Amino acid sequence: MKHFDLIKKNGKLIIENLRCGCAHDHTIPDMDIYIRTGLLDTCAECIKDSGLGQNALLVADNTTYRLAGAKLQQNLINAGLNCRVFVLPGDNVEPTPEMADIIVSHVKDDVDFLISVGSGVVTDLTRYSAHMADKPFAVFGTAASMDGYTSITSSMMIGGMKISKYGKAARLIMFDPAVLATAPMLMQASGVGDLMAKYGVLVDWKLGSVAAGEVFCPLCGELLMMALDKCASHIDDILSRTEEGMEALIEALILAGLTVLIVKNTRPVASVEHNMAHYWDMMHVACGGSPVPSHGICVGIGFIYCLYFHEMLKNADLRRIDKERVRISRMTRQQKKDYICACYPPGAGEDIMEANEEWYIDWPENERRIDALAAYHEQYIKDAAILPEAEQVIKCFERFGMPTKASQAGISHERLRNALLCTKDFRRRYSVAQALSELGLLEECAFKLLERENSL
Ligand SMILES: [Zn+2]
Ligand SMILES: [Zn+2]
Repeated sequence: MKHFDLIKKNGKLIIENLRCGCAHDHTIPDMDIYIRTGLLDTCAECIKDSGLGQNALLVADNTTYRLAGAKLQQNLINAGLNCRVFVLPGDNVEPTPEMADIIVSHVKDDVDFLISVGSGVVTDLTRYSAHMADKPFAVFGTAASMDGYTSITSSMMIGGMKISKYGKAARLIMFDPAVLATAPMLMQASGVGDLMAKYGVLVDWKLGSVAAGEVFCPLCGELLMMALDKCASHIDDILSRTEEGMEALIEALILAGLTVLIVKNTRPVASVEHNMAHYWDMMHVACGGSPVPSHGICVGIGFIYCLYFHEMLKNADLRRIDKERVRISRMTRQQKKDYICACYPPGAGEDIMEANEEWYIDWPENERRIDALAAYHEQYIKDAAILPEAEQVIKCFERFGMPTKASQAGISHERLRNALLCTKDFRRRYSVAQALSELGLLEECAFKLLERENSL
């Protein structure tokens, strides 16, 4: 059964007639989405159709203003709209609340809506500012680099930490494949990394439904597989940055992003590989060391380690798990608390425990999960058949010039070890790392990967 209808009409992407019997409450996002070549010169029509109003505040950075913002502004003016412009100062703008305050100070009474022209940081800042100013906003995306254009949260830099802040979803999202093709190759690589990791997320989500009572949504599963197939069948086009390739990649990222709005949480798009990426970024910001690659590239690297974890879980004999050995080797609540606090920057470990009441499970629950995982193992192997081989993913990423392991990305051995062992506790989302941990196998598996890292 198809769980939804997806219609493309003159570049407008419409999802409707959601049909899913799972326990999630499904919502059709109130968002107009366009992916069309030439949109840079015709976007005023979309803005009028979306009813955003007459007076825009356009937010861009130096690069995106030059690349697309100036033309977009002209198109709005030609169409009879008013368009003020705020170009973010400097070359490396951080998404801080202070910067958002400056944007908000440009939102005068006569501004009806904001429009961001850019990718990650510009979109995050505009979303946050629109929320603070209580105005609707539109997005003109300039790179197919991540799945967060549809997001309701912004990743903000607050007090030396990246914190996800509630904003609001864009009312209108627009992409022009010809503009996307001008973004540097590593931005598309980042989009591909963020997307490919969804194979692992889907398998982890099913594991979570068996072991930890998470509710797997077949509708989201189908949308994600559609997105993944679209990306996989256009890798050559994406590499050559044809308009068809750019359209396929951004459409896949948007479809993935929509699942978050449909079930109103990020479980469909993120698992432990996202926690790893977040951890590396957080450690760099809080404790220094080499800068880490962009979000999607770190997610892609995390995903490769997860693929090895899945391989190890597939090959494990779960009927022969020595439960007594697992029970004895478990950390106590206090030991685990100390361990997490030691791995994360000061204060972050405590926040994780506060935000995530399930970070520690007792032995009876652990034992129950071992039995549940053992009973599921045969079906797990079938469900995990959607996963690509790690070597295949490495080859694909290499074609994009992406690093494929932590040491190539400037991530230290210690930060890799911590990512493999303790980022599973970062959010409540279940993952292959959590399953291995409950089976008493995680340390051994992580150790094998760390050894392999050295020998490569
Ligand atoms: Zn992501
Ligand atoms: Zn569902």
